[in-house]
Amino acid sequence: MSVLIFIDQSEGHVKKSSLEAMSYGAKIAEQLGTTAEGVVLGSSADDLTALGKYGVKKIHHINDTILNQLDGQLYTKVIAQVVEKTGATVVVFSNNMDGKAIAPRLSARLKAGLVSGAVALPDIGNGFTVKKNVFSGKAFANISVSTPVKIISLNANAYKIVEGEGTAEVAAFSATIDAPKIKVASTSKASGEVPLTEAEIVVSAGRGLKGPENWGMVEDLAKILHAATACSRPVADAHWRPHNEHVGQTGFAIAPNLYIAIGISGAIQHLAGVNRSKVIVVINKDPEAPFFKAADYGIVGDAFEVVPKMTDAIKKLKGVA
Ligand SMILES: Cc1cc2nc3c(=O)[nH]c(=O)nc-3n(C[C@H](O)[C@H](O)[C@H](O)COP(=O)(O)OP(=O)(O)OC[C@H]3O[C@@H](n4cnc5c(N)ncnc54)[C@H](O)[C@@H]3O)c2cc1C
Repeated sequence: MSVLIFIDQSEGHVKKSSLEAMSYGAKIAEQLGTTAEGVVLGSSADDLTALGKYGVKKIHHINDTILNQLDGQLYTKVIAQVVEKTGATVVVFSNNMDGKAIAPRLSARLKAGLVSGAVALPDIGNGFTVKKNVFSGKAFANISVSTPVKIISLNANAYKIVEGEGTAEVAAFSATIDAPKIKVASTSKASGEVPLTEAEIVVSAGRGLKGPENWGMVEDLAKILHAATACSRPVADAHWRPHNEHVGQTGFAIAPNLYIAIGISGAIQHLAGVNRSKVIVVINKDPEAPFFKAADYGIVGDAFEVVPKMTDAIKKLKGVA
């Protein structure tokens, strides 16, 4: 019996979401009186022993370059072997692209109950019940899992990273790895300095900006804040911005510390992807715009006046010319 955490990486580096998943998994292990272990697939440029700080005692490393690229089918089969060998009874993923590609497959393979989008630690007082978001974040559901192996995927920002002391033992895990059924011919990285789903700050804009030629001021604000840029769906549909910036029910769901929404009305489908942000700032010329109801701070004003002033003020604050 142990808790196994899938530690996902981007270009050989452990993602921030995995630090949350490890902290969360370590706490579950503590609740269950067992240990937390991690599993890393593919090469890593990071010092994996240092991940002991986040509560994992041992890391099973399958260091095979075939696994450097996410392949949901391959990853599932390899992680299933680790679960079977270690006898893990709880498996934790981040509820991101990787987690969404693997957790449901693993659930089917191991006949294990899955709670996707968990927002709190499981209640183990009476069974094993996990709280999750439903209806695009409008409500919560408490899901009781009764299968011997339980799988949880944790929403971003739902659990604070806990950094302590200690190192993890890193052990090579010998797994049977099938020949991949898919081949990645090429990859193209999304533009922008910061990946949207990992960003601490996101500057997002909507149809209120009138056209793609006006995005310079959004990019300027994002640059000074070291933020990622995002947009509403109609903006991506109209090809004003690339689809990898589209947030909402049908786009990326993000949970940055700060989300700045410029000229976005705040339709429920948009809010579904951003309402887990810690602080929301809305800039809209219409005081009745629905987004103000979800905002922590609101500025009623014309974006074309407000945004450049905001950027200048931040530049001054940071002492940048
Ligand atoms: C099934 C379904 C799924 C959907 N999924 C998504 C999704 O994932 N993401 C998403 O975003 N939408 C989604 N939508 C669309 C959603 O319903 C809204 O239509 C969309 O979010 C509106 O985009 P917007 O706020 O940019 O544009 P608008 O609704 O046109 O709002 C523009 C806003 O800009 C303000 N504005 C105008 N000029 C200025 C100015 N000069 N300065 C400041 N403010 C100004 C206006 O007051 C207005 O509030 C979905 C819809 C459906 C039916």
